[in-house]
Amino acid sequence: MASLDHIRALSEVIGPRGSATAEEAKAADYVVEQLANLGLSPERQTFLSATSAYRPYALATGMALLSVFLFWQPQPVGAAAAALITAVALASLLLEMQFRPNLLRWLLPIEQSQNVSAVIPCRQPRLQTASDEDAPMGAIAPRADCPATVVITAHLDTHRTPLLFRAPFWLRVFGWLMPAGLGSMVALLALFVIGIFIPASALRLIALAPGLVAFVLFALMIQADLTPYTKGANDNASGVAAALWLAERLTASPLQHTQVYLVFTGCEEVGGYGADAWFSANRPALNGAFHITLDQIAGAGAQPVVVRAERFLIPAHSDPGLLALAEQIIREHPEWNARLVSLNAGYGELSMGVKHGLRAIAFGAIAPDGASPRWHQPSDTLAAIDEATLARVQEMVWALLREIDRQNAPGNPSDAPAAESVAA
Ligand SMILES: [Zn+2]
Repeated sequence: MASLDHIRALSEVIGPRGSATAEEAKAADYVVEQLANLGLSPERQTFLSATSAYRPYALATGMALLSVFLFWQPQPVGAAAAALITAVALASLLLEMQFRPNLLRWLLPIEQSQNVSAVIPCRQPRLQTASDEDAPMGAIAPRADCPATVVITAHLDTHRTPLLFRAPFWLRVFGWLMPAGLGSMVALLALFVIGIFIPASALRLIALAPGLVAFVLFALMIQADLTPYTKGANDNASGVAAALWLAERLTASPLQHTQVYLVFTGCEEVGGYGADAWFSANRPALNGAFHITLDQIAGAGAQPVVVRAERFLIPAHSDPGLLALAEQIIREHPEWNARLVSLNAGYGELSMGVKHGLRAIAFGAIAPDGASPRWHQPSDTLAAIDEATLARVQEMVWALLREIDRQNAPGNPSDAPAAESVAA
């Protein structure tokens, strides 16, 4: 099946696929069917996830606003309470931005979501030897015998369409929100702590300035959660389509020494919950594994990119070895017009691969102005998909897989046959 047909099925037939919604589950069903048609045995993993990317920030800024109100109450009790609440909100926010457990997650509603995964084993598993004490006789772990493991993730869910993503101006505002929000909360905390000891009424007036920043943020977060979900043809039916294309290609021509897990994740858009759950559940099998993320790879007006690093709060860097391989492949194919980029003020599943200690890399497509076209906009539809860009990224990933496979051949890597020479 052509990749464009997959994008049509996901974005037009199923439509907007909000995190942990019935439509996201339908997209998972669709992927199960496609994988089964290829003769694979797809597995479903359910997990609990937040349902909003914005609610944790609304709650944290809401706590900051409550603190400003308390600061205007009789002191020093009001200042002490304000300092405590803001300190807890700020600490929780910093943890949330690193996708770690925190109070905001515990207080907010969760729903069930799902991942779908399938594995394509390698052609030449390692021989079992007596020294293989990790794999006793009868252990149900034949998959672990391939010398190398690659996990490819692509998310099934789609984002909302907030004001913050509507135009270049708003995207610039979005870039400033995080430092402004964190800065205002640090300023408030400092004022509240001083207020415990010095009951100066001037402090209350000063606190209104960072309080206003917190209010603007609060309002933008509420607005975001009131917007409809996008159809997400580029973000991320394109990545799902490419992963299904790879499933077809790998089933026809498995790699020699590399098993490939294809993981179709839920709830990426609200904090990478699906990838987090899958990596957590499969940790023992992922020692030394590679991780490739496919996200937004076919936007019209964009060129294929390899992501060097992405930064939300702290940067997540792609694996240097994989980056060197990708650079080599890009040099060999100038016709792809591909390049390396670093991304700011956003997260993807690269952050999850890095969090779980995998050798990770991400592929995408970015316009010359540095943006992903129609990111979280209502116009992210089939009409704005560029099939040629999609095909280039697919070929890039396929080339990278073969190169990983070649380098992981047992014995002398340089003598190992390239995977394509024995491909069916
Ligand atoms: Zn995405």
